Amino acid sequence: MPEFTGTFASKLPRSGTTIFTVMSALANECGAINLSQGFPNFPASTDLIDLVTKAMKAGYNQYAPMAGILPLREVIAEKMQDLYGAAYHPEKEITVTSGGTQAIYTAITCLVREGDEVVVFEPAYDCYVPAIELAGGVPVRVPLEYPDYGIDWELVKKKINSRTRIILINTPHNPTGTAWSREDMLELEKITSGTDMVVLSDEVYEHILFDGLKHESVCKYPGLAARSFIVFSFGKTYHTTGWKMGYCLAPEALMAEFRKCHQFIVFCSSAPVQVALAEYMKQKDKYLELPQFYQRKRDYFLKLLAGSEFTYKPASGSYFQLLNYEKISEEKDTDFAVRLTRESGVASIPVSVFYNHPDEARVLRFCFAKTDEILEQAAERLLSLKK
Ligand code: PMP
Repeated sequence: MPEFTGTFASKLPRSGTTIFTVMSALANECGAINLSQGFPNFPASTDLIDLVTKAMKAGYNQYAPMAGILPLREVIAEKMQDLYGAAYHPEKEITVTSGGTQAIYTAITCLVREGDEVVVFEPAYDCYVPAIELAGGVPVRVPLEYPDYGIDWELVKKKINSRTRIILINTPHNPTGTAWSREDMLELEKITSGTDMVVLSDEVYEHILFDGLKHESVCKYPGLAARSFIVFSFGKTYHTTGWKMGYCLAPEALMAEFRKCHQFIVFCSSAPVQVALAEYMKQKDKYLELPQFYQRKRDYFLKLLAGSEFTYKPASGSYFQLLNYEKISEEKDTDFAVRLTRESGVASIPVSVFYNHPDEARVLRFCFAKTDEILEQAAERLLSLKK
């Protein structure tokens, strides 16, 4: 390929290759166990795969309707009613997307203009800030502090003003494994009441909550539901992150604006996968059993780590567990994560990459959505680490 000799200014000058790609590549290079990137290493249901094959053989191989096939939007509406008592109109208030990431990008793109502010709680999932910046918006960061990572509502109140366009929240939370309480939701409802602020609520881990906790969706709070985009991901729920399928819900006026952008970003998402999911989602036990399934994994991983030098608070939700390594090393988390991959053969994600402020906590994020065998091998290596 001849070299490009023109000049241009990057629109994302601070973004390089994502940490997930970097750590996964390093894990491959070193033959390490990869607990860095958040994806299950166990198979998706063969019934679901068969339904996709069946849909392809039945001819669902052309563009789906822009907002998603109606039967899928109908089962999504039914699920929202069953689980959260929330009424979303399948035709006007639900759009099927190519993953949660596209839904988040589209919601930000359709609302944020040059100079608009978006409140982001950090550490934050890494696609939020670039999407805000590409839209010309300004990320306004609210730090969540180690070890509880709770919301400092007084600080949030100081950060919002007439330029605040969106408050972006995520519960259960990646990377910290925390979850919002009812009190947090009520506080958010109170501070947004009577304003034009929109809430963008990333709820892709809605079914992964532990110790009897219930998912606090913004749609359970009428004052929030009326101003919220809510984002979900089939990838997290059905162990199919590679399919990149999700959906977004919002009141009609917000959803109409969302679709104006959606139609030009992707137009529509995979038709055969939608046909299969519309059928598969009718089996409610498949998502209702997820909390127990992942709680067993979290508990097993932590039990295997008993006696190690790592300290932790058990995750309340998501499939991530943070481990503090200060008894093992004083190194920066980015350095320690690389050394852990190279020398001990376990890849993780250093939590400071999800922050934009100097974070002194010595914490790494481990994904426990793995087979027991992989968790056992990883734990054996982690147990051997001493100062
Ligand atoms: N939000 C959070 C918090 C996530 O962890 C992820 C996936 N890692 C996404 C959104 C993106 O979901 P999807 O893969 O469906 O795009």
